Amino acid sequence: MGMGLGDGEVSSTLILDLLREVGGVAVIDGGLATELERHGADLNDPLWSAKCLLTSPHLIRDVHLDYLEAGANVIISASYQATIQGFEAKGLSREESEALLKKSVEIACEARDIYYKRCNGTGSDGTGIHRDGRILKHHPILVAAAVGSYGAYLADGSEYSGDYGEGMTLENLKDFHRRRVQVLAESGADLIAFETIPNKLEAQAYAELLEAEDINIPAWFAFNSKDGVNVVSGDSLRDCVAIAESCRKAVAVGINCTPPRFIHDLILSATEVTSKPIVIYPNSGESYDPDQKQWVQNTGVSDEDFVSYVSKWCELGASLVGGCCRTTPKTISAICRTLSNKS
Ligand SMILES: [Zn+2]
Repeated sequence: MGMGLGDGEVSSTLILDLLREVGGVAVIDGGLATELERHGADLNDPLWSAKCLLTSPHLIRDVHLDYLEAGANVIISASYQATIQGFEAKGLSREESEALLKKSVEIACEARDIYYKRCNGTGSDGTGIHRDGRILKHHPILVAAAVGSYGAYLADGSEYSGDYGEGMTLENLKDFHRRRVQVLAESGADLIAFETIPNKLEAQAYAELLEAEDINIPAWFAFNSKDGVNVVSGDSLRDCVAIAESCRKAVAVGINCTPPRFIHDLILSATEVTSKPIVIYPNSGESYDPDQKQWVQNTGVSDEDFVSYVSKWCELGASLVGGCCRTTPKTISAICRTLSNKS
């Protein structure tokens, strides 16, 4: 099942193969943490959605399944805020911490297996019928292992400022991320999703870690912006995208967790410096208050408005589109409908 590759193979064409299979644009899933809360999980914790790996893995699996049923071709594991350092601070051992990282990917792979079984369960010709009568379509599915930035581990909102202080160095960041990237590379995921990258230094750290010989998995690089020009630290998006462009194991590059209104200009900037597939998964447009640990000011766009941008983004060059925080399976269904209307 799935499109997973054999051990030790890095597929530089992983995303291109997916895009060919789906006939153009692939769909990514939507927000995980906000959906987990809707399913009843309490995420008021520095570990955020990673807390559910410990307390309620079945909820994570159910959210992945909701997104697969909505039509997602890529589901992203619940490891964004899962770090060995964070788990150890909770009193877990090194072994337990690494096992939880792996578990995040295993849960996503399990959801993919369940989805395919349901597809094959009743229908011929690759379709199945769900309990509630919906038709399930067999479609290619990749599992991406999420890696959040150093700021996401700090849980102080610095992934939205990109300010890690004067003392932070490239080597510090590589040391911080190295073991997690190694563990996730061996977890059975198809690729790593480096998400909400707030500055150039961290992109450089990821690129150098990926190039290490023992990392046999490709990755995408997703940056965030709050002005439509630069990444959140103020570093130039073009400089950041150029780092991914020159990394052989980077199979896509783009933007996540950024208000939809900024995406148009960011795609234009990115395509000037890369020919790799462009990945776009914005948030709903609301903003996160790290002190209150909640989303504030409901100035966000509705699903209809969000989705109305999607065709334009694809015309500009986006080839993987989904949603980040505060987007839901409804958002993803609507994106799938828009794309299938177009084709
Ligand atoms: Zn987000």
